[in-house]
Amino acid sequence: MTTTLNILPLSDWFPGLNQPLLIAGPCSAECEEQVVETAHGIAKIGKIQILRLGIWKPRSRPGTFEGAGDEALQWLKRVKTETGLLTAVEVATAVHVEKAVAAGIDVLWVGARTTSNPFSVEQIAQALLGINIPVLVKNPVNPDLELWIGALERFNRAGIVKLAAVHRGFYPYERSRLRNIPKWELAIDLKSKFPNLPIICDPSHIAGNASLVPEIAQKALNLSMDGLMIEVHRNPFLAFSDAKQQISPLQLEIMLNELVFRSTSSQNVEFIDKLEQLRDKIDSIDQQMIELLAQRMRIVEEIGEYKKNNNVSVFQLRRWENILKSRIDCGKRLGLDDEYIKDLLQLVHKESIRKQADILNRKDKLSAE
Ligand code: PEP
Ligand code: MN
Repeated sequence: MTTTLNILPLSDWFPGLNQPLLIAGPCSAECEEQVVETAHGIAKIGKIQILRLGIWKPRSRPGTFEGAGDEALQWLKRVKTETGLLTAVEVATAVHVEKAVAAGIDVLWVGARTTSNPFSVEQIAQALLGINIPVLVKNPVNPDLELWIGALERFNRAGIVKLAAVHRGFYPYERSRLRNIPKWELAIDLKSKFPNLPIICDPSHIAGNASLVPEIAQKALNLSMDGLMIEVHRNPFLAFSDAKQQISPLQLEIMLNELVFRSTSSQNVEFIDKLEQLRDKIDSIDQQMIELLAQRMRIVEEIGEYKKNNNVSVFQLRRWENILKSRIDCGKRLGLDDEYIKDLLQLVHKESIRKQADILNRKDKLSAE
């Protein structure tokens, strides 16, 4: 199903909004001092325009800290007047929407667990009818692009045009280096389907560890994401939630100075010429790769016929192991990563097996008739 989203460009959300959009703030509101001190630390850097803050925290398990609740809305009013920062909070119910809007919150975001549930999304969207406020939609916990798009569509249908997606990675059951697997390809697919939809990366929830946040943030910028949402706490070690992944305002400042903010294009003629030449080369190599794959497949088919005529099975373990090993060795000599070659060959091999199995089945049916 293809649809379009009616989106207002980020630059028109608030006067003077910079891009990429930089959002930072604590995972959760703990007490007034923590909120105010963190906000001042962030505002002082001079690059952040929106303060994020979880007031009502949807924690995985009960009995853990669930945010300061309604009271924190008053702290945000103070922060706004003292720092000039815009404010963003997470909403998970219609009541949250009502309270946040009444308290003058500037931006709302919908968390990963909420995006996963279309009933909740619909209720929040209904509560937003007639309200002109930006809404950021985090990806669902599981890598389901349709669910993510569905949530964006529900808000858009409720009249929200200041709409953006937030890429925060996907839950891995197995232990992994990162807390959530980025699966960048999903964010890229979303961008190709809706080129005018801003996508903001949340490197903190992807990384799960403060030391990995800059690396993920840089990767997001390299992929031309439209902004970053970063968890920042005045004293990360003492944070009541997500302590491992939060960074201090000073660490944020250092990171922002070190990140390379690339533009998506350049007007420099020399650059454009050079890029064009290199892209021509890539186009030509891709063309050759596809022709070679087609040639390879013709031989695979020939082998399929041959196996059939000699009553030999399609899959030959020894041969496959040899292929894998020799190609990985060859790739290594040429500076290519083992895993990359392995993935590529598995893809090629899978299709070869499918083709040969087709040949065998087709012939079987004919001879049975
Ligand atoms: C958060 O932003 O603090 C949060 C709860 O994130 P997520 O919904 O991505 O888990
Ligand atoms: Mn968090």
